[in-house]
Amino acid sequence: MKTKLYLTFGVSLILLFAGCGDKKTDQPVENTKPLYELMKIDSFPKFDSLRAFAHLKKQVEFGPRVSGTESYRQTKEYLISVLSETGALVTQQNFEATVPTGETLKFTNITASFKPENDKRIMLCAHWDSRPHADQDKDEAKKKTPIPGANDGASGTAVLLELAQILGKQNPEIGVDIVLFDAEDYGESGSLEGYCLGSKYYAANFPLKFRPKFAILLDMVGDIDAVFNREPVSVQYAGDVVELLWRYAQSLGNWRFKDYRSQQIYDDHVPLNEAGIKTIDIIDADLVGGDSSNPRRGYWHTTQDDLSNISIEALYDIGRVLTGFIYSLKIN
Ligand SMILES: [Zn+2]
Repeated sequence: MKTKLYLTFGVSLILLFAGCGDKKTDQPVENTKPLYELMKIDSFPKFDSLRAFAHLKKQVEFGPRVSGTESYRQTKEYLISVLSETGALVTQQNFEATVPTGETLKFTNITASFKPENDKRIMLCAHWDSRPHADQDKDEAKKKTPIPGANDGASGTAVLLELAQILGKQNPEIGVDIVLFDAEDYGESGSLEGYCLGSKYYAANFPLKFRPKFAILLDMVGDIDAVFNREPVSVQYAGDVVELLWRYAQSLGNWRFKDYRSQQIYDDHVPLNEAGIKTIDIIDADLVGGDSSNPRRGYWHTTQDDLSNISIEALYDIGRVLTGFIYSLKIN
């Protein structure tokens, strides 16, 4: 997944001015409610980070989530069963895609919808596949081995599974779609084409009745020292959502959400944004490229992306922010 992005994003804003003959510029502006806002609430459900960690561990224990393998099949069954138990409407979007090796493989995007009839809704997403080859591994012999993907894949998925369990017990005001994309990480360095195949398919064949007002993507959120800087593609397409969420996280005293810009990341939020679904990426972007100043954090796309880098506190920190954010959110 996620290579540095050297593409330029051409966003053309076309402002249409309706010609209204008699312009009364001194009239007071009526009722300019923001599209969405955060309400003050007394409390919100607890995010159980031990359960989130158990979901993460379970995925890693199944083994690589690479299409066609037994571990892939078992993980898919597990994800669908956990999501179904929450009472959400769970749907599978099956598709085939040709990966850079030339093989055509079968994939599945999984959606769990809470309050599917409510058009005031948001989407929370992560990728559930894991990279089929550890091409960044220092050990030449391991470069073709699939990665454990404890952080890259399983962490975001685990947080969303726990959130689904919370949402199932106590519905928030808004509707929520939790989407687990397949086939995010089949790309090869030097080309973006093989990445994000699941979200590309989802965006091109949008399977739900209502589009979300915006979406939040989680990727690599479980590292002991996880830090979330503001990611440039997210800022460009959905700057207001970045602002709202970062401010909220900081108001809770969460030190992981910083106001610096991260490097630009190619992740599932790019196809979604290009298809008009406003999406932010919460990602520990410093890991991408493997050039973190902390040697322990050099495990991106290697066989070292395992449980040893994960902390329950990091899962708690991100999970608590998202829980509070969802229950405070009002869509106007
Ligand atoms: Zn990746």
